[in-house]
Amino acid sequence: MECRDRVLVRLPNWLGDSLMARPLLLALRRGLPRAEITAVGPAGLLQLLAGDRAFDRAFALPLGAEASAALRTAAFGTAYVLPPSFSSAWQAWRSGARERIGFAGDWRDALLTRAVRRGARGDLHLSREYLALGEAGGIPADGHAVPALPVECEPFEALRRLTAGAGYAVLAPGALYGPAKRWPLARFVELGRDLAVRGLRVVACGGAAESADCAALAAATGGESLAGLTNLMQQAAICAGAAVVVSNDSGMAHLAGAAGAPTVAVFGSTSSAWTAPLGPRVRVVQRPTVCSPCFQRTCRIGYACLENVGVRAVREAIEELGALRREGIA
Ligand code: SF4
Repeated sequence: MECRDRVLVRLPNWLGDSLMARPLLLALRRGLPRAEITAVGPAGLLQLLAGDRAFDRAFALPLGAEASAALRTAAFGTAYVLPPSFSSAWQAWRSGARERIGFAGDWRDALLTRAVRRGARGDLHLSREYLALGEAGGIPADGHAVPALPVECEPFEALRRLTAGAGYAVLAPGALYGPAKRWPLARFVELGRDLAVRGLRVVACGGAAESADCAALAAATGGESLAGLTNLMQQAAICAGAAVVVSNDSGMAHLAGAAGAPTVAVFGSTSSAWTAPLGPRVRVVQRPTVCSPCFQRTCRIGYACLENVGVRAVREAIEELGALRREGIA
């Protein structure tokens, strides 16, 4: 195998960003059918993306001595560096890859052979920015539709129980980024009660850090909380089986969209033009203010961008998706 047929992809660290990298990963696979593609990233994300068969080998972060040595001796022709950090460019440089392609900035241009300049956040969708890295390496953005994320996990008790009964709605009230991405919990409760009245069970989902909000939401809507009880692939399976997923602009919204679930994503301080979840059945609800998008984690002036999103707007988005009709619910 020639050097140019060995490709390294350093995945983003965040769930949503990694799912927005799927168009690039799939374009690489199509553009280089003979190549051996190696992915480096967080273990859970590698596992989640493995079903696409877009990479052949994977090394989980943090890299141990053995993995670092294996990368150094792999003789990569090209490394695509998706995170914008100095450390990720440094890793690619240390791998000895002949071509190292990533975004310019953060004092790392000298470590890259092609430092791709980006426009302002939101000029292009992030998935398109990643595709631009591929184009810099000669991989065309071929415009193929991105298929639903393959969800491959063993049946587990919560999923069996949920899929055996009447339909359910997943509500995800968390966002690790900060409160400027969190729609008020009281609105999730109001929406959840409405969905419960219409016959859907409410399942509050998120990570362990979101357990308190998910428990409160479940208690207020007669539902249940699975926060912190499932891994990413299990969360994808739960989303894929849901009548609808309503989530803040968080990894859960991206996971649900990628899994093909009817998904409503509520945006606050960030830009949906830049990071709206990908998926065939996604609706974004955002009410930008004059200060939007500020990309701040907290707000000093009252979170108007989130307060302006009413429950009615989210209900309308659910109706646009036809999510309740599919469940036989008016
Ligand atoms: S400054 Fe504006 S856009 Fe930023 S969080 Fe506050 S209200 Fe939202």
